[in-house]
Formats: sequence, structure tokens, C-alpha cells
Amino acid sequence: MKPHFVCIGGCGLVSETQTKCNSVGCWRARNPLAECDCTDGKHEEFFKIYNPSALEKND
Ligand SMILES: [Zn+2]
Ligand SMILES: [Zn+2]
Repeated sequence: MKPHFVCIGGCGLVSETQTKCNSVGCWRARNPLAECDCTDGKHEEFFKIYNPSALEKND
């Protein structure tokens, strides 16, 4: 896969361009997606780095 952008809120949003989450109810809605370069489409390395439970939720 090409480098892509994933919402770290866990809503499943993936984009080929840097944009913001627009998922209703996602705690990362209106926040920018983060770049991921996984090759299997599972974003596993990505979610190891961006563990949602380790992030503040009030930004
Ligand atoms: Zn999201
Ligand atoms: Zn990925």
C-alpha cells in the first residue's frame, strides 16, 4: 500500500490524503489523521505507536 492517513480514534477512517476525521461520534472527529505506511492494510504498527488508550482525549 502507498503511505496513507488513518484516524487514531479507531473509527476506521483511512484516506490517501492528509485530512481531518469527519466521523460522527469519533473522539478524534475534526482532528487531523496521522500518516501510516503499513503494507497489509491492518495499520497494526500504526496502532502500536498510537495507542488510543495512551492518549489524552480532551484535545
Ligand atoms: Zn475518527
Ligand atoms: Zn496503515
